[in-house]
Amino acid sequence: MNQSLAIEEEITLFKKTIEAFAKKEIEDNYSQWEIDGILPRQLWEKLGNAGLLCVDIPEQYGGLGAPLHFAVNIVDEFSRLGYSSVSGNLAVHSNIVAHYILNAGSEEQKAYYLPKMAAGDYIGAIAMTEPGAGSDLQGIKTTAIKNSATGEYVINGSKTFISNGQNFDFVIVVAKTNLAVPASKGTTLFIIDADSKGLTKGKKLKKMGLHSADTSELFFEGVSANPRQIVGELDNGFITLMHELPRERSILAVAACGAMEGALEITIKYLHEREAFGKPLSQLQVIRHKIAEMTTEAKVNRAYVNQCLALLERNQLSTADASIAKLSSTEAQGRIADGCLQLFGGYGYMEEYPISRAFTDARVQRIYGGTSEIMKEIISKDVLGK
Ligand SMILES: Cc1cc2nc3c(=O)[nH]c(=O)nc-3n(C[C@H](O)[C@H](O)[C@H](O)COP(=O)(O)OP(=O)(O)OC[C@H]3O[C@@H](n4cnc5c(N)ncnc54)[C@H](O)[C@@H]3O)c2cc1C
Repeated sequence: MNQSLAIEEEITLFKKTIEAFAKKEIEDNYSQWEIDGILPRQLWEKLGNAGLLCVDIPEQYGGLGAPLHFAVNIVDEFSRLGYSSVSGNLAVHSNIVAHYILNAGSEEQKAYYLPKMAAGDYIGAIAMTEPGAGSDLQGIKTTAIKNSATGEYVINGSKTFISNGQNFDFVIVVAKTNLAVPASKGTTLFIIDADSKGLTKGKKLKKMGLHSADTSELFFEGVSANPRQIVGELDNGFITLMHELPRERSILAVAACGAMEGALEITIKYLHEREAFGKPLSQLQVIRHKIAEMTTEAKVNRAYVNQCLALLERNQLSTADASIAKLSSTEAQGRIADGCLQLFGGYGYMEEYPISRAFTDARVQRIYGGTSEIMKEIISKDVLGK
């Protein structure tokens, strides 16, 4: 058997493991978690025990040392199955936060945090957005000012919309460390434990979708951080952020592809079952063409996202290409979730039908991780220059 066939087979087996996990641990509980507005801690422990967290982190730090494709499959499959709250918050933990630590963290940070993350004992979050600054991150107001007497940094400010905002055990926070220069040259990332004095988690934010993906405000009032808590280099936080953004945007694009395919799967099944005017809806030409269009859109996006993942694996994915993948796939996800819901008629508007959740969950994909407008800014600068 050649090598790529062997990998294909391993991926198929891995997908089956993910599906079996979802059937056993998520399927019967998900609706309740959506009502509760939070994922239970035990889910994280179970994900860790099943080897579904931080799988592409090297074995020496508790991961499986698996290739990127295995790591993205988890997000892909949970999105396809309609568990976008799980896939979203898991992606923040495994595919984003863990990689900040792996790529920019100190040896001490890697050895301390990554094994706990892979086991599901510690949940990670990242806090960039503030009430007054999201797209324009350079406008953040959170500061970390060095106390020359103690050598410690003192963090003050607030963050909002933070995923895993209730459950997290530590958060990577973006703060200004040099107020005399533009934020791009004077911002630093700090790793802060949830039980640090002065750090308060705000209440769970109520959202239109992704209900169980706990999201919160965070308040930093005189939180002390020693220099060993810096992730990456002092004042160079923006460089670390820029380096990690292609990965973040790719994973959102993968989630979009999974969600589109999942929405199409349940819709196609419904169209074969539901009858109107004496025949299944799947026999009506206008509906057949709509499905053909949406399938084409999903497949073309999947192909481009796969191409980007291959580049990411070689560390060659540009910010512009990652932005194209995010823009195209999340916009397509919105159209497909809407188009599929329409084909369910009134049932599509009923909460008990998974397509209605696919529709509301899809909306944020065009907003977080950089809005569609910001993606267009990045792409147009790449194409046309500044
Ligand atoms: C459910 C959820 C989870 C999130 N999780 C996290 C998280 O874990 N960590 C984190 O740090 N953040 C998180 N975010 C925040 C998210 O990344 C921001 O909401 C997003 O980047 C947009 O910022 P904003 O909300 O401040 O909107 P704004 O920046 O105020 O934008 C408002 C509108 O103006 C447009 N706009 C802004 N600038 C331009 C421009 N130059 N040209 C054209 N249009 C522009 C935007 O596209 C948007 O349509 C999350 C958000 C949500 C909703």
